Amino acid sequence: MIVIFNADIDPNGEEVRSLISYIQRYYPNIRTQVHFVEGALRRLTEVYLIGPTEKVSHEGLEQQPGVERVVRVSEKYRIIARHKGQLDPHGFTYNGLTFDQESLHVFPGLCAVDTRENVEKVLCKLHELGVCTARMGAYKPRTSPYDFQGHGRDCLAYVFELAGKYGIRVVAMEVLHENHIQEIRDALELAGRPTGVMLQIGTRNAQNFELLKSVGQQKEFPVLFKRGMGITLEESLNACEYIATEGNRNIIFCLRGVKTHLSEPHRNLVDFGHVPVIKRLTRLPVCIDPSHSVGRREYSSDGIQDIYHVTAQGIIAGANMVLTDFHPNPSKALCDGPQALLLEEMQAYLQDIKIVRDAYLKRRELLGSLDKYLKVSY
Ligand code: PEP
Ligand code: MN
Repeated sequence: MIVIFNADIDPNGEEVRSLISYIQRYYPNIRTQVHFVEGALRRLTEVYLIGPTEKVSHEGLEQQPGVERVVRVSEKYRIIARHKGQLDPHGFTYNGLTFDQESLHVFPGLCAVDTRENVEKVLCKLHELGVCTARMGAYKPRTSPYDFQGHGRDCLAYVFELAGKYGIRVVAMEVLHENHIQEIRDALELAGRPTGVMLQIGTRNAQNFELLKSVGQQKEFPVLFKRGMGITLEESLNACEYIATEGNRNIIFCLRGVKTHLSEPHRNLVDFGHVPVIKRLTRLPVCIDPSHSVGRREYSSDGIQDIYHVTAQGIIAGANMVLTDFHPNPSKALCDGPQALLLEEMQAYLQDIKIVRDAYLKRRELLGSLDKYLKVSY
């Protein structure tokens, strides 16, 4: 059960204390957990009741001071879930940018940082095109131990310095170990905090619960959680919940395709049809990664690459973030070169996204106001 307080009620205030003592008095078997949500639109305090809540009186709770609403929850991923009656998008603001189920941010960049020159070329291009968000992989999880593992800590100083130089506000960067969080924090500090970082949990670590707890225990950096490639959506949502239960709710859920031989010739089977599903089941912003889904630069008979087509599929379904691999010279890239787009293509790629985003907004105007229970039949 979740007790939602009126907006702006202090999580340490009298109303919350009084509710907790009410629970302790009447329902000693129920545990309480206070959550404070600093959304893009409003600040909310919620108290979670954990344990045998079947006998807890809904009305009794609703009459407590400051309480706006009480919601019964059944999902296991209860914090990130969208419960009946919860219409607020669960957004957040980080380094001046708002991430929620309404916004759209494109994060083009290097799958793996290889040289300072390449970082500079990519970031300079982003700056030229007015983009202030980028992907930059420093720590790389590779299938083979003999493959390039990323420059790790050694590249952070120049990545952050250059991000600052080119006005990048948020860099998405995967972490593989809790130590990486501190390394990023230290490097940012040393560089004078010229940019922000979004910690990425890769698909291989989607069920690395200790790592999920570590990114959840810090609130400084938002977290981009990538769906597990070989587990159910429900399992991925439960795993993502680990981040939220530790206290960090600034989470974005990323679809990146699922592993199956049926995806061939694509690297993974594109799952962007799940964008609206995630937006219905949770209040998290949804990201798509067309590069790791498709895995190759190939053109269809219409002259458009598959990566562009699946990007469009995600955007037209309402995606809120796009993570795309670019490289100044893909044939020389140390990781995932075959799927990297060229810098010369970036402008057209962004224009294509704009066309599709406008189409999505028009679809919203046309269809979004229909009563959602209305059954349309032709
Ligand atoms: C990546 O984005 O660099 C990456 C390794 O992706 P994934 O975890 O989705 O394979
Ligand atoms: Mn990659």
